[in-house]
Amino acid sequence: MNIILLGAPGAGKGTQASKISDGFSLPHISTGDIFRENIKNRTPIGMLAKSYTDQGLLVPDEVTCQIVEERLGREDCKNGYMLDGFPRTIAQAEALDKITKVDLVINIDVDFSLLLDRLCGRRVCKDCGESYHITKLNGETKCARCSGELYQRKDDNPETVQSRLDVYKAQTAPLIEYYGKKGIVFNVEGNAAPEAVYAAISAKLNALK
Ligand code: AMP
Repeated sequence: MNIILLGAPGAGKGTQASKISDGFSLPHISTGDIFRENIKNRTPIGMLAKSYTDQGLLVPDEVTCQIVEERLGREDCKNGYMLDGFPRTIAQAEALDKITKVDLVINIDVDFSLLLDRLCGRRVCKDCGESYHITKLNGETKCARCSGELYQRKDDNPETVQSRLDVYKAQTAPLIEYYGKKGIVFNVEGNAAPEAVYAAISAKLNALK
C-alpha cells in the first residue's frame, strides 16, 4: 500500500509514521529527515536545503521531487511505502501522480493552538528520530527507545515555527482538497494521545488489507 501522511508541522506525522512503519512493515520516507541528513553531511543538497529549512520555508519543488523519485525507485518501496512530509505543494502532488499511485492519504487534524507549544517543546532523538515533549521528560536527555541523545531541532523555535505554520496553511493545506476529490483521504483527529491516534489509523489500515 502507498500511503501519504498529511498534517501541519507538529500534528504528529513523524510519531505516527514510525508506529505505522513498525506495525505494517512499510518504509518510512521523510523528506525532512532526508534534508537533515544531507545538512549534517554537508552535501550540495544539504547546503541548498539549509537556506530554506532554517527559515521555515520549503525547499524548491524540483529538488525535492527529484529526491523522492530516486527514493521511491529503490527496492524497499516495491511493495509499498509511507511518505511523511511529502507532498507539501500541489506541484509536488502532481509530480508524484506521474510516478506512482497513491492509495491512501491520512490527514492528521490538530487544533492550530496546540502546535506552537508542541513544536517549541519538542525534543528529538538524534539516532532514531523519536519525538518527546519537554514537559514529559523530567530532565531526561536520552531516548527511552534507543538511548540516543535528545536535541532540539534548529527550526523548532517560535519564529521559524510561525513561518512553517504559515507555509502549511498557504501551500500544503490545499492538498486535503486535492486528494479529497480523488476520494482517498482518511481524516483522523490528532489532538488525542499518540496511542489513540494510532489506534484509529491502524483500524483503517487493517480494514483496507
Ligand atoms: P519536516 O521535518 O517535515 O518538518 O521538514 C523540515 C523542513 O524540511 C521543512 O520546513 C522544509 O524546509 C523542508 N522540507 C521537508 N519536506 C519538504 C517538502 N516536501 N518540500 C519542500 N521542503 C520540504
